[in-house]
Amino acid sequence: QAKHAGRDRVIIFDQAMESLLDEYQKLEDDLRSSVDEDLIDISFQPILSTDGTTLESLEVLGRWFHPKLGLISPERFIPIAENARLIRRYTLSVLKKSCMVAKMEFGVFPDLRLSVNISVQEMLETHFLDDLHAILLETDFPPHLLNLEVTESLLAKNESELSQVMQDCCKLGIKFHIDDFGTGYSSLARLHALPIDALKIDKAFVKRIDQGGETLIKAVIEMAHGLNMKVVCEGVETLEQAQCIAQLGGDYIQGYFYAKPMATSELSMWLFAFTHQKVSPIKVNTKGN
Ligand code: C2E
Ligand code: MG
Ligand code: MG
Ligand code: MG
Repeated sequence: QAKHAGRDRVIIFDQAMESLLDEYQKLEDDLRSSVDEDLIDISFQPILSTDGTTLESLEVLGRWFHPKLGLISPERFIPIAENARLIRRYTLSVLKKSCMVAKMEFGVFPDLRLSVNISVQEMLETHFLDDLHAILLETDFPPHLLNLEVTESLLAKNESELSQVMQDCCKLGIKFHIDDFGTGYSSLARLHALPIDALKIDKAFVKRIDQGGETLIKAVIEMAHGLNMKVVCEGVETLEQAQCIAQLGGDYIQGYFYAKPMATSELSMWLFAFTHQKVSPIKVNTKGN
């Protein structure tokens, strides 16, 4: 009897597994055709100086509208693209699209920087820099206006080729930002050895400000500045968080407090308003005030 029940459970488990795998396979197939047909959209989110007065760059974020399932988060589809070896084609199409938009729609802002997310694994693929450079030339987008955001797992890799690729990118003027800093394992020695321009502190740490937990942000800012790097805080949603970051000396802020990710047309209006209205800097609460 017991044995029988166990076997039934195994069968049910197998079926559940199988349908999960089917679902995943289906999603992967759909993603492949969406990438092939260049159907993945992008949105842009401004990164501003902490006081809110100047624009550092626009982060490019992938948006996949699945015909049946609706909007699928990049947190879900990027890992699928990586596993299916689609990530490289995807990244190159995102890069091309965003450079074209920057040139054609936002050409009146000639110093507009872009921040594009790159998977660590692609940086080690052959011709990474050649492909990237080709797109910059084709779209006439200046390399010195490009930030590449790479996650912290990069710091765990010790390949000398990686270091070489990064150095070569830097020679073109491209800058590197370490994304989601604080969520992974970091080798501080590697952090120092690689050409990194800024650390992006993950939103989980910004959230802690609400409970008075700013120790980590403070430490990261001090360390980064000591290493000649800037600090971007992501996921800033409130004035209190922005003021706290300002007080700690954080350089840039990204988050709903200043601006949400926007489609091209919405961003055009935002950029127009931002550059034509005089933005007054947020005030920093100093102790005793
Ligand atoms: P990320 O690079 O750390 O991007 C920031 C994420 O935080 C974005 O989510 C953004 O919409 C969200 N965000 C911004 N401000 C706030 C805020 O104030 N509060 C909250 N709660 N969230 C905020 P999104 O667009 O869903 O992207 C998630 C992640 O997916 C990104 O995290 C990035 O790691 C990855 N990703 C997105 N697009 C691409 C891409 O084109 N290539 C690669 N490799 N990864 C991408
Ligand atoms: Mg990012
Ligand atoms: Mg980020
Ligand atoms: Mg993040």
